[in-house]
Amino acid sequence: MATIPLLANPVPWPNGARCAACFSFDMDGESLMHIALPREANKRVCGLSELRYGPTVAVPRLVKIFAHFGMKQTFFVPGWCAERYPAAVDAILAGGHEIGHHGYIHEDPYTLSRDDERYWTERGLVALVKATGKKPVGYRAPSFAFSENTLEILQEFGFAYDASLMADDVPYLIANDGGDLVELPSPMAMDDWPHYMHSFDFGTTNQISSPARAFEVFRSEFDVMWQHGGLWVAVWHPFISGRTPRAAAMVELIEYMQNKGGVWFATLAEIAAHVRKVTASGAWTPRVERLPYYDASPIPALSRRLAAE
Ligand SMILES: [Zn+2]
Repeated sequence: MATIPLLANPVPWPNGARCAACFSFDMDGESLMHIALPREANKRVCGLSELRYGPTVAVPRLVKIFAHFGMKQTFFVPGWCAERYPAAVDAILAGGHEIGHHGYIHEDPYTLSRDDERYWTERGLVALVKATGKKPVGYRAPSFAFSENTLEILQEFGFAYDASLMADDVPYLIANDGGDLVELPSPMAMDDWPHYMHSFDFGTTNQISSPARAFEVFRSEFDVMWQHGGLWVAVWHPFISGRTPRAAAMVELIEYMQNKGGVWFATLAEIAAHVRKVTASGAWTPRVERLPYYDASPIPALSRRLAAE
C-alpha cells in the first residue's frame, strides 16, 4: 500500500511515541435503566442485574488487568453511580486511574433546558468531588449527547477536556467567545455497545458479536492510528466489555499493542495536558472548531416555523 500521510496534523506524542491510546470506560451501572424507564426500573431485576455487573464484578477485574500491565486509564462515572458504588470508585482510584464526569444519573442533555443541564452537571460534579476527594477535569456526555449548551457549562465549571465528539482523528479545540477546551475525539467505531448490547429492556436488538469480531474492529482502528500518529480511545462499558470473554480479548489486545511498541498509554487527562503543553511550546498547532455550529436550522423556512412554535 502506498505510504500517504493520512493525518493532516498528527500530534508530537511524548518520547517519540507512534500514537496515544486510552482504554476509557463509562461505568454507567443501573443509571441507564433509571433514566430510560424511571417508573418501572425497580421491577426489572434481570436488566438491573446485568448493569450492576459493571461496578461490582467488572471494575475490579479491569483494575486488576491494568495493574498487571502497569497502565493508568480513564473511567467516566455518573455521580449517582459514584454514590452507589463507593468500593468501585475506591478500586479505580487505588489503581491510579482517572475518574471523569459522566452526568449525574446518565441524563440526556439533548432533552434538557440549559438550566436543567447545568443543574445535573453540577450535581454530578458535587457527587464526584465527594466520592473521590478531587474535582474531575474530564467530561463525556451521557450517550454522547453533547448539546449546544454543554461547552459553556463545562467552561463555567473549569473542565480541561471533553471526550464526546468525533470531528477529527487527533485532539482538537472546541471554542466559543468564552475560550476553548481540548476535545479528545471518541469515535463510534470504538464503542462496544453496537457489538454486544442486546437488551429487552432498552429494545436494543444488535446481533451480538464474538469478541474476535469486535476486536477485529478495535485492532484495525489501532493499527491505522499507530501507523499515522493518531489517537485511539476505546469507549467501552464495564458491564459490557468487562465480561470475562471480552476481558480476555482485551488482555490479548493490550499484549499486541505493547509488543508493537511506541504506544503511549495514558489517561485522557494526561493526553489533554500534553496537548496543552505542545500547543503552548509551539511544537504543535491544534485545529479549532467553533461552537455552536449553527445559530438555527440552515433551512430558513423550517427555522422560521420552529421559531414560531
Ligand atoms: Zn454512559
